[in-house]
Amino acid sequence: MALKVPRHKMPCQDPVVRRNNFNEVALGYPQEIAVQEAQRCLQCKKPKCVEGCPVGIDIPQFIEQIAQGNFLEAAKIIKQKNTLPAICGRVCPQETQCESKCILGVKGESVAIGRLERFAADYEMKHGSSNYEKPSPTGKKVAIIGAGPAGLTCAAELARLGHAVTVFEALHVAGGVLMYGIPEFRLPKVIVQKEINNLKEMGVEILVNQVVGKITSVQELLDNGYDAVFIGTGAGLPNFMNIPGENLNGVYSANEFLTRSNLMKAYDFPNSATPIKVGDQVAVIGGGNVAMDAARTALRLGAKDVYIVYRRSMNELPARAEEVHHALEEGIQFKILTNPVRINGDENGNVKSMTCLRYELGEPDSSGRRRPVPIEGSEFEIPVQTVVVSIGQGPNPLVTSTTPGLALNKWGNIIVDEKTMETSIPGVYAGGDIVTGAATVILAMGAGKVAAASINEYLKNK
Ligand code: FAD
Ligand code: SF4
Repeated sequence: MALKVPRHKMPCQDPVVRRNNFNEVALGYPQEIAVQEAQRCLQCKKPKCVEGCPVGIDIPQFIEQIAQGNFLEAAKIIKQKNTLPAICGRVCPQETQCESKCILGVKGESVAIGRLERFAADYEMKHGSSNYEKPSPTGKKVAIIGAGPAGLTCAAELARLGHAVTVFEALHVAGGVLMYGIPEFRLPKVIVQKEINNLKEMGVEILVNQVVGKITSVQELLDNGYDAVFIGTGAGLPNFMNIPGENLNGVYSANEFLTRSNLMKAYDFPNSATPIKVGDQVAVIGGGNVAMDAARTALRLGAKDVYIVYRRSMNELPARAEEVHHALEEGIQFKILTNPVRINGDENGNVKSMTCLRYELGEPDSSGRRRPVPIEGSEFEIPVQTVVVSIGQGPNPLVTSTTPGLALNKWGNIIVDEKTMETSIPGVYAGGDIVTGAATVILAMGAGKVAAASINEYLKNK
């Protein structure tokens, strides 16, 4: 029966309308569709989907509750393992995690686990009431550096255990990439702030405008009464291509472009303090999720033509299939097997075009993907006035360079014991993108959870 019922589609804003606004694209399942989708689940005795979830949510159990109409109970089950379900239900790459393992996916379409998670979390936000019972205090204090998904998850887990937790965040709002990177139309900021408010209700103290490495250091935190420290400072340092013209007016890193639009609400100028200049033709270099976000943002900021410029083919695009699909629907143009060699400016130092080479695919490289090889003499020019470079981010060295004795790998990521997330300094733990390099929200959360369990053990013995 379940195999015959197709997976229920997510209702979305019409592409023609949504390319002109910043409202959420995916609208969420209505109740009756959520129940019908939940009824597709076979309630497997050995559920493979759970193996695919980095935080181990009891997926069949929460789906069963939705199928029976017990939506608040479903949310409660999810929250036992995941403190940010409304966020994960929206941005986790479920197609490569829980849903890729779902038994229904072998011969047909997997259960829409992510959409059901989002449904339960949204329902709870609207209809639930907080009945969190604070545990008795242990008298131990933990400092968390960075209020992204890794830091926030670690904070929540430790607060649940009765430890006093203070989060130090460099920006003026908490949330990390959830606030400054992922655009409003994929993840409304009001949702992020509601989930963060839940953490505050649990007793987590969040201090913003606190740049650790400048105003204080890891060692000072340990010397000033914190029993342990968790570093979750992410991968916020953009990579550049190092080609001529990258310093012209109109060239942004994706990081700056998205931060100005999302966090500083440039799209709402003059109601916000920051404007953002976007030309009629915009090129976004790169093929990952960040590139898709930047391209779709540029479109909404008024660009007429937005190009994704990517040196491999559509098959190698690292972005989620859903994001590519949404970008195509909205009219983003893909210039694949293409890479810029130079950005050209006018007499005022503004971008006017980009010189590119065409590429073909050669033998697979170390990543397993076919290597892009430039075609000699294939130079051509694309007229553009804005270029957004989105070719990856590295770790910000502010905390790591001010923490003597902290072991790092050659890329500047913190080395940890993978079972405990402890660094080379006793009592100092790390997790999320600062350890793995740019990865995903749920992996960062998983690392935060593991670290919290280890910190708890460490504090017991301290
Ligand atoms: P971050 O989210 O980067 O948070 C780190 C925090 O530490 C930040 O708030 C930062 O300000 C703070 N910080 C840094 N230095 C200091 C300091 N010195 N002192 C105090 N605080 C400091 N993943 C998905 O799963 N799905 C997606 O759809 C997705 N889309 C993405 C789109 C974009 C545009 C980007 C950039 C990333 C996306 N990712 C996505 C990746 C995902 O967001 C990250 O893997 C995840 O946020 C990592 O979490 P984190 O807590 O390690 O770091
Ligand atoms: Fe349900 Fe699929 Fe998990 Fe089985 S594997 S319990 S069908 S979601």
